[in-house]
Amino acid sequence: MLKPKGFSTRIIHTPYAKDDVNRALHQPIYSNSAFDFESAEQMELAFQGRIPVHAYSRITNPTVENLELRIKQITGSLNVTALSSGMAAISNVILLLASTGSNIIASHHLFGNTYVFFESTIKDFGIETRFCDLTNSEEVRAKIDNKTVAVFVETITNPQLEVVDLAELSRVAHECNVPLIADSTLTPPNVFNAKSFGVDIDVISSTKCISGGATSVGGLIVDYGTFDWSKSPKLASLSKRFGPFAFNYKLRREIFRNLGACMSPFAAYLQSLGLETLQLRFEKAANNCRELAEFLETLPEVKAVNYPGKEGSKFYEISKKQFGEYPGAMLTFDFESREACFTFINRLELIKRATNVYDNKSLILHPASTIYCDFDAQKRKAIDVSDLSIRLSLGIEDPEDLKNDILQALA
Ligand SMILES: *Cc1c(COP(=O)(O)O)cnc(C)c1O
Repeated sequence: MLKPKGFSTRIIHTPYAKDDVNRALHQPIYSNSAFDFESAEQMELAFQGRIPVHAYSRITNPTVENLELRIKQITGSLNVTALSSGMAAISNVILLLASTGSNIIASHHLFGNTYVFFESTIKDFGIETRFCDLTNSEEVRAKIDNKTVAVFVETITNPQLEVVDLAELSRVAHECNVPLIADSTLTPPNVFNAKSFGVDIDVISSTKCISGGATSVGGLIVDYGTFDWSKSPKLASLSKRFGPFAFNYKLRREIFRNLGACMSPFAAYLQSLGLETLQLRFEKAANNCRELAEFLETLPEVKAVNYPGKEGSKFYEISKKQFGEYPGAMLTFDFESREACFTFINRLELIKRATNVYDNKSLILHPASTIYCDFDAQKRKAIDVSDLSIRLSLGIEDPEDLKNDILQALA
């Protein structure tokens, strides 16, 4: 049979795990909890994980499995697990690898909830996060010790839009026998091949681009099978039996199952549909981002534009190497005062005042007064969140309309 190579073709023509009895062209929504068995023997084999059947939808479900298979197709990964949210993906990975006394290496430049998860939630369980500058290999190396279980990085940080040289970070992590975990939400798999830059485990908030433009909340854990788990304290003994599958075994047979943050079949259905148009939508949004970055630069009221795809950005070269022509669909820009930011945001008519990113609609917010409102001014400064900055996530509207909205808000 013809083996499709193109990104969108592979998504759209990923075969079902089992033929549908009605030959439905979309994987139906299996919105049930449990599945019937033919015999006690079959049930025993299923519970042992020795036959590929479904038993209970918190553990596996055909609609969710279809989404997982599609993601596996396009990422070239060994295993994919879909979860209820991006935060569920992150917390499952960290709770799988870490125990009391472990530490994690991460930057201060993190999605707000991830930052608080690292800084507070897991700290209460005796897991330390060593914050450092991930663009500085020597600093990373110096922070790693024999209790380090992961280096965690976002491919484009939000809202600073910092881009780390991932191949270099991976090299340092691997030399120290530590896996590299990346959150690649802002650079979806059509533009970023995580495996080829040395990422071992990828976490994605599929709420964003994959969902089809904010149709539902979801998360993905993508396991590339690249790390030698005999070097990971909690997986060392499992790795003797399961080799590269040790991570997935622990995840599926313990952590994911027991934490219970599974994706609902309905969300999986929406996200499978969204995935089919990911490439089209993302390229459009990313092109809008480039066009709007150029446009904003021409406006005298705008004091600075931050976008890694801009020549002159200190992350331009590395972004191009890692994400090609499409270094994200989000930018930030500065006005001369916080008041000017608020006035501008209030006057917009088309661009929505909303949190979230990678909706089909363009969304705007002032990070310092919203996502980071619980942080005092000193702390915001430490993590490079400026009072003068506005974050704009580009949708797939026609760029002229977005420009006109900006012009009328400034008038
Ligand atoms: C939104 C987001 C998350 C969290 O995802 P949810 O699906 O909202 O839980 C994590 N990381 C990044 C970079 C995000 O943008």
